Amino acid sequence: MSDRKPDGRDEDAESFGRLVEGVRQFSEQVYPERRAEFQRLASGQRPHTLFITCADSRVVPEMITQTDPGELFVCRNIGNIVPAYGEMLGGVSAIVEFACTALDVSHVVVCGHSDCGAMKGLLYPDDPGLRRMPTVASWLRNAEAARSVVEVMRPGLEGAAKVQALVEQNVRTQMQHLRTHPAVAARVAEGSLSLHGWVYGIEDGTVHTVDERGGEPVPLGRAAGGRPGQ
Ligand code: ZN
Repeated sequence: MSDRKPDGRDEDAESFGRLVEGVRQFSEQVYPERRAEFQRLASGQRPHTLFITCADSRVVPEMITQTDPGELFVCRNIGNIVPAYGEMLGGVSAIVEFACTALDVSHVVVCGHSDCGAMKGLLYPDDPGLRRMPTVASWLRNAEAARSVVEVMRPGLEGAAKVQALVEQNVRTQMQHLRTHPAVAARVAEGSLSLHGWVYGIEDGTVHTVDERGGEPVPLGRAAGGRPGQ
């Protein structure tokens, strides 16, 4: 949603050229160097983690976690939202079910991020920009519970601090929604699936864990009583 200059067409052509050049570089240089690894993946995947995050272009799951192809099963959408089971059976519900049943992942990470436009939209529903996007506005209703918690529990917050509080609370809300999905509930009950709430800071490259019960986010790896990496 950047402002487009009158000569935007040239810019568009240049951006697309970058994509084409990137693919050429991947096919001719990167792939051959890692051929054995990709060949192993050619006939199947066995990812260990379902990673649910925002569609924001600044959030790159594999880069943040330094993981390789085949490790993360990624679900991205506006606001890293997981509609509660039965609310909106669609793409996200199908991904959750597939990852937890067919792929048998061991972990689900819900990862929000700083400066999230979706959370700003949730806070300011009368913004003219959002009014032009009824589908987005409707989708964001799946995070409305997070907004109401922040309004009641953090009444003095404004601006960026309020957005950040909502980013964190939205991760908690979506983790709660996750637990309403039968495939998740069953695996959590038998102890074979762990849920994790993360918030990625674009400004400093850090990840903090968010506890579902509330409390201040803790740098990843330093959660109370947790081993590094939890
Ligand atoms: Zn976002």
